[in-house]
Amino acid sequence: MNVMEIFKSMEYGPAPEAAAPGLTWIQEHAPFGLFINNQWVKPDSGQYMESINPATGRPLAQIASANSADVDAAVAAARAAFETWSRTLGHVRARYMYAIARHIQKHSRLLAVLESLDNGKPIRETRDIDIPLVARHFYYHAGWAQLMASELPGYEPVGVVGQIIPWNFPLLMLAWKIAPALAMGNTVVLKPARYTSLTALKFAEILQEIGLPPGVVNIVTGEASQVGEALVRHPDVNKIAFTGSTDVGRSIRRATAGSGKKLSLELGGKSPFIVFDDADLDSVVEGVVDAIWFNQGQVCCAGSRLLVQENIAGRLIEKLRVRMEHLRIGDPLDKAVDIGAIVSPGQLKEIQRLVNQGVEEGAVMWQPSWACPTEGYFFPPTLFTNVSPATTIAQVEIFGPVLVSMTFRTPNEAVELANNTRYGLAASVWSENINLALDVAPKLKAGSVWINCPNLFDASSGFGGYRESGFGREGGKEGLYEYVRPKWESSTPATADDFHIVQDSTLPDSSRSSVHEKEVGETSHEEDVEPGSTNGFRPVFPSIDRTPKMFIGGKQVRPDSGYSRDVYDPGGHVVGQVGEGNRKDIRNAVEASHAASGWAVGTTHNRAQILFYIAENLAAREEEFARCIVQQTGRSYSDAVSEVEASISRLFSYAAWTDKFEGVVHRPPLRGAVLAMPEPIGVTAIACPEAYPLLGFISLVAPAIAMGNTVVVIPSQTSPLSATDFYQVLETSDLPGGVVNIVTGDRDTLSQVLADHDDVDAMWYFGPAEGCKRVELASSGNMKRTWVNYGHPRNWSDPVQGEGEEFLHESTQVKNIWIPYGE
Ligand code: NDP
Repeated sequence: MNVMEIFKSMEYGPAPEAAAPGLTWIQEHAPFGLFINNQWVKPDSGQYMESINPATGRPLAQIASANSADVDAAVAAARAAFETWSRTLGHVRARYMYAIARHIQKHSRLLAVLESLDNGKPIRETRDIDIPLVARHFYYHAGWAQLMASELPGYEPVGVVGQIIPWNFPLLMLAWKIAPALAMGNTVVLKPARYTSLTALKFAEILQEIGLPPGVVNIVTGEASQVGEALVRHPDVNKIAFTGSTDVGRSIRRATAGSGKKLSLELGGKSPFIVFDDADLDSVVEGVVDAIWFNQGQVCCAGSRLLVQENIAGRLIEKLRVRMEHLRIGDPLDKAVDIGAIVSPGQLKEIQRLVNQGVEEGAVMWQPSWACPTEGYFFPPTLFTNVSPATTIAQVEIFGPVLVSMTFRTPNEAVELANNTRYGLAASVWSENINLALDVAPKLKAGSVWINCPNLFDASSGFGGYRESGFGREGGKEGLYEYVRPKWESSTPATADDFHIVQDSTLPDSSRSSVHEKEVGETSHEEDVEPGSTNGFRPVFPSIDRTPKMFIGGKQVRPDSGYSRDVYDPGGHVVGQVGEGNRKDIRNAVEASHAASGWAVGTTHNRAQILFYIAENLAAREEEFARCIVQQTGRSYSDAVSEVEASISRLFSYAAWTDKFEGVVHRPPLRGAVLAMPEPIGVTAIACPEAYPLLGFISLVAPAIAMGNTVVVIPSQTSPLSATDFYQVLETSDLPGGVVNIVTGDRDTLSQVLADHDDVDAMWYFGPAEGCKRVELASSGNMKRTWVNYGHPRNWSDPVQGEGEEFLHESTQVKNIWIPYGE
C-alpha cells in the first residue's frame, strides 16, 4: 500500500505491543505452582493444565492443577493468618493495600500484556481499562481499611473467604474480590478461572514483593470440579464470593445452604440498552460499540438487548451497520484492534450455536463483510433485527459480540420490555431529555443504570444484580457489608432454635428476672396486677368468642383450608385459635403483595407518617397487647409492657429512618455523578422468631415496609395472637391494603411454600438451623435473597441486635445511576 492509497482509505497500520516481556516472564516462571502461605508449592496431584493463547490457539504456560488437599492447605494457611490479620490495625492494612496498588501500577504494562495474551482481549482495553481499575480498587479500599474502625464500628471481619472468579476480567475480578476482603480484615483463598490464571499468579508475585504477611492471600489454580467445589464445601470457609454463570451460582447457593457461610453472587445478565427518539444517535452508536463489542461481548453487564424507539430504529440500525463495517478484529496485542479473541473454543462454539438458533427462530442476522482471522478463536460482531422478545436470543445470555434489537413505542413499553428478563444486572438509557431518563432509571430492575453512557465501573460505586443476576454488591461502601458481620454475633453462642428468650440486658431489673426465672405455666407475679381488675372483682360473663383471621390484601380473611389451630399458654391451656394457612393463602398473600407495589414508589414522607401512626395506634392499645403477650407466653405483665413499649419505640426508629436512609452520591473519576439509591427488594417473606411475639414481628416488618417492601409474614407459630391483633392496628393506620399480609399456621410448611415461590423476591427466616437450610436451598429457584439466623438467637429487646442499619441493608438493594454531564 502506498501513501496515496493509505491517504484515501485511511486504513490503520498495525501498532503491535511487544509480547516479549510477557512471554519471557512466563518462561521464567513456568510451570506455575500454587501460591499458599506466600510460597510457591507444587500441586498435591502433580498435575498441570495448559493455558492457551486464544488469539493463536497455542499453549502459553503450564499451570498447577490443584485438588482438595491443596485447598485444605490454603484454607489452613488463611485461617492461621486470620488470627493476626483480623487484629492488625486498619492503618497497617491500609499501608499494605497502598503498596499493592502502587506495585500494580509499577507492573501495569506487563500485567496488561499478560492479560491480553491469556484472555484474548485487546491491549487497548487491558492497558486503559482493566489494569487502571485494578489499581484504583486497591487505592480505594486502602482508604476503607484506614477508616473501618470509625466508619463500621459495630462490625468485624467474616473470617476466611473463598473467592471464585471468571475469565472475562481475570485481574479486575480478582481486585473486586480481594481488595474489600483485605480491607475489612479477612483472609482469602482465591480460585482463578481455568482459562485465565496468569495475571493472578503475577499478582501473587506482587504480594511477595510488598511483603504481605503469609497466608493472607492464597491463590489456588485448577479445575472447578476439584478446586471450586472443594472451596465451596470447605467447613472452615466463612464466606463464598462468586462471579460467573447463573447456573453455577445456583449450585453454589444449594451447596452452601444451611452452612452459615455468607454468600455473594454476581451472575449473568441480559442488559437492555434503551434508545429514545431524541437521543444523540452518533453517541448512541459509540455507546453500542462499548456496550456489546467491548471485551468481545463477554461482559456480564453487556448491553446485549438494544431497545430502540420505533420511529428512529431504521436510522440507528443503518448507522450501526456502517460502524460495524469499520470495526477491526484481530491480534489482541495490536493497539488498533477493537475486537480480540473469544476466550476458548468451547465459548466460541456456544456463541455460534446461539446465533444459529436465532436464525432458526426467524430473526434476521447481519455481520460485516470482512472475514475474521482464521487462526485463533474469533467471532464477528453480529446484529439481529426482527427479534421477538420471547425468543432464545432475546432471553439467554450469549456472552459474545452479539446484539439483538427490538423496538418500542412509548416509555412504558420500553420499561416493560427492558424488565422482561429473569436477570437484573445493568441497563443504559439514552435520551437528551434528562427528565425522561431520570424517570425511567428507577423503574428499571437493574443494579446499575447508565444514563447516556455504557459499561462504566469504579471502585466507589457498587456493582451487582437484582433477581437472577445475583445478590450482594462489589465496590462502594455497600460492598463492604459483604465482608463483615455484626460484632455481637460472635459473642452469642448458637442454639438449635430460638424458642427461648435470650438473656435480656436492657429490660428493667424487675422485668428481667421475671422473663428468665418464670416457670412454664406461671402467668403473673404478685406485683403484676392486671389493669381492669378492681379490688379483685371480675364480672362473671363468659368472654365473647374472638376469631383472629389472616390478613391479606388489607382484608381479614378466613383460611382456605377451613381448619384452625389452637394457641396454648405455657400451661397447655387453649387461649385462642388461628387459621391454618396453606399454599393457597400464601399464593393470595403474594399476589396481594405484588398488587401493593405502589408502596415502593410513594414518598418516604408518606411512609414515615404511616409508621408513626401505626406506633400511635399501638400505644393506644398498649395494655391490651401486653395482656395478650402475658396470656400466650406466661411472662409477667411488666415484662410484656416492656415488649410493647420496645415495639412502639422500634416503629418510631423505622419511621425516623424511612426518610433518612437515603443513599449517597459517589464521585468516581469522571465528569458526572453516580447516585447510589437504596431500593426496596420487592415482595419480602418473613418467618418471625418464636420469642417476643410482638417485638419479633415488628422488628422485622417495620424496617421492611419502611424501605418500601411489601411483606408476607408468618408470625410466631406458638404465639401468633399478637400479630393477628396487630392487623387491627394496621387497619386504623392508613396502611394501604397488601403492604402487610399475615398468614398464620405451621411456620416451616408455610416458609417452604414462600421460599419456593418464584414471585417472592426475598425471604427472611428466624428459626431453627434446619429450617434456615431448607429456606436457603429452596431460594435457589429464582435466586431470591435470603436472610436467616442459622438457629442463632437474637435478643430482640436489645437495640444493638434487634434494630438498626443491618435491618435496613437487608431491606434494600442499591441501584447505582451513572449521570455524566457536560456537552
Ligand atoms: P462458570 O460460571 O462455569 O465459571 C466461573 C468460575 O466458577 C470459574 O472459576 C469456574 O472454574 C468456577 N466454577 C465452575 N463451576 C463451579 C462449581 N460447581 N463450583 C465452584 N466453582 C465453579 O462460567 P464459564 O466459564 O463456564 O462460562 C459459562 C457461561 O457463564 C458464559 O457463557 C456466560 O454466559 C456465563 N459467565 C458469566 C460471567 C459473569 O461475569 N456474569 C462470567 C463468566 C461466565 P473453571 O474456570 O475452572 O471452570
